[in-house]
Amino acid sequence: MFNYSFQFDLETKLRLFANQGFRFLHWCDDWNNGVLYSKEDFKRFSQLIESHGLKCQDVHGSDAPGIKIGSQDEGAFEKYVQLLRNRIEFCSAIGGDAVVVHPPKEASDYARSCKAIENVRTLCEDLGIALAAENCFPADDKVLAQYFEKFAPEFVGYCFDSGHANLYNNIDDLMKFSNRLKVLHLHDNRGKEDNHQPPFYGSVDWQRVMHWIEQSGYSKPLNFEITHRPRYFEGAPEEYLDHAARSILKALSAGT
Ligand SMILES: [Zn+2]
Repeated sequence: MFNYSFQFDLETKLRLFANQGFRFLHWCDDWNNGVLYSKEDFKRFSQLIESHGLKCQDVHGSDAPGIKIGSQDEGAFEKYVQLLRNRIEFCSAIGGDAVVVHPPKEASDYARSCKAIENVRTLCEDLGIALAAENCFPADDKVLAQYFEKFAPEFVGYCFDSGHANLYNNIDDLMKFSNRLKVLHLHDNRGKEDNHQPPFYGSVDWQRVMHWIEQSGYSKPLNFEITHRPRYFEGAPEEYLDHAARSILKALSAGT
């Protein structure tokens, strides 16, 4: 569970999550900038997570402006690979098992994106970390199918984003990747904007989604990629977390 709008420091966020009863997290901080973590950062973040009784299960890789998986500019591409390697090492240090990558927006950047993935293959194998390619754009099911054809399941898995699937109406095609499912980005919207709100805010079919996850090979705790935005919810962070937790429990019971 993540929260960008309240903009708390890491320690406050972790305390709020732990107090609400959450036990696992998906590291999403800095996903949209070019920040590289130092070895001291690895240690400090790990200690903070542990001291709050939490466990990190996976990490969101970087997708910063101008630094993309399919960047044609050599400098930008090198920076992307450097960031990806950094997050893979961080994921290993923090006890997770997968790093999420966004596929390229343009089909013409596909070959370049494969080059970036190839570049980290040995590092992933050495550290026992997988990549998880996320559905982000309308035709992603085709790009993901190409990745899954090309790369082994233990190297490149799937990050299912329920909100993006709802937005682009390609859930039927994405559900074919259940045997690759490695990371979850669960959230809701009304099919028009990427709202990232708790279950039942919008039009995601939670019964179907939960049932599908249950039938898949996914075995980790569920992750919800929910973001507080004042235009959807007024109130204290604790109230928003409580609202989110109740919605999640309702979604869980919808799947059974
Ligand atoms: Zn996502």
